[in-house]
Amino acid sequence: MARILVVEDERDLNDLVARHLRQEGHEAMQAFDGPDALIAVAAAKPDLVVLDWMLPGLDGITVCRKIRDQYLVPILMLTARVEEADIILGLEVGADDYLTKPFRMRELVARVRALLRRVELDSRGLPIGESETAPIETDMITVGPISVSPDMRTALINDAELDLTPKEFDLLVLFASNPGRAFSRDYLLERIWSNEYEVTDRTVDTHVQRLRKKLGDDAGLIRTVWGIGYKLQPRPTAAQRPA
Ligand code: CA
Repeated sequence: MARILVVEDERDLNDLVARHLRQEGHEAMQAFDGPDALIAVAAAKPDLVVLDWMLPGLDGITVCRKIRDQYLVPILMLTARVEEADIILGLEVGADDYLTKPFRMRELVARVRALLRRVELDSRGLPIGESETAPIETDMITVGPISVSPDMRTALINDAELDLTPKEFDLLVLFASNPGRAFSRDYLLERIWSNEYEVTDRTVDTHVQRLRKKLGDDAGLIRTVWGIGYKLQPRPTAAQRPA
């Protein structure tokens, strides 16, 4: 279980988030403004930070940048506006994920779990940023009809092997590791094409289109998130589907 710092000046919301994280078995610490958040990060070295955008003292974006200058701790940002999502996912801020208010506590807990899992995978003896190219000892990641194995570099759709280019494979691994999370084109470019020149927004679109084509009847699993980018949206199971 992880040590998590919750940064939010609205005390009721901060308490609510902290309580749900504790129920999950985590240790939750609380800060109520930007400067205190920076002190808490330095003093307690949390495993994850839940960080609100709107804070007194220093705003969440500034706090995020300052944390990122010194620490690799994953940051989940809270925002009141959907339009802020692209800024948050942009690497100039350095947040790892975001949630738009109002959100359900169940959703927050799920995002926290996904981020912690990603960090655990990244930290298995791998230098930062090499997780896509170095073999990771991990189980198959399965989302609906899709299964990917990062260490074997194989991908299956309905048990049939997919013939993917390296970039298509990297995209699918990223999507499948974070089902439901929207990725901006900028983020995808930076993460998957970071070492390459002459890439544009179209680079992402073209690769996603090709990947969709290869998914055949299941192409719709990769959704366009208008104004942002793309996400892999698993179909709801029968139990989750509204009656
Ligand atoms: Ca706030």
